[in-house]
Amino acid sequence: MKREFAVIGLGRFGGSICEELSQQGMQVMAIDSDEERVNKFSSIASHAVVADATDELVLKSLGIRNFDHVIVAIGDDIQASILATLILKDLGVNKITAKAQNDYHEKVLRKIGADNVVHPERDMGRRIAHNIISKNVLDY
Ligand code: ATP
Repeated sequence: MKREFAVIGLGRFGGSICEELSQQGMQVMAIDSDEERVNKFSSIASHAVVADATDELVLKSLGIRNFDHVIVAIGDDIQASILATLILKDLGVNKITAKAQNDYHEKVLRKIGADNVVHPERDMGRRIAHNIISKNVLDY
């Protein structure tokens, strides 16, 4: 059976997750409060909807609890990211990955039950540093 994903927030981060999952043949619902961003993804994702992820009734009506994995890719609006994650948790979503903007944000997201918290710039910086080191070792 195909796994179903929902991506909330279609900026560079959420947008690339949405694109890649779709390219890999997954069912993806793309959600953003910005209509223009949603329109961009209407031909990429299985479904694309304009919705405010801080509105519990809206998330309920989208049947969000039936998705296998929901990615909260809202960054700048930390309050919205926390509230959306909290609602998803309350609704019983199986797996939540959330993007953190800073260490405090990450701490709160973990505390309220996000299963996986990513901090793209920091994580990528670390990965590149490891890459550089292992490359230098190989160069010897
Ligand atoms: P990125 O760093 O990934 O490029 P960004 O800088 O474009 O992201 P962010 O503030 O991280 O912007 O927001 C990502 C997306 O989340 C935006 O497209 C924004 O419209 C959307 N978004 C913000 N708040 C909500 C909300 N309450 N419900 C749904 N989508 C939201």
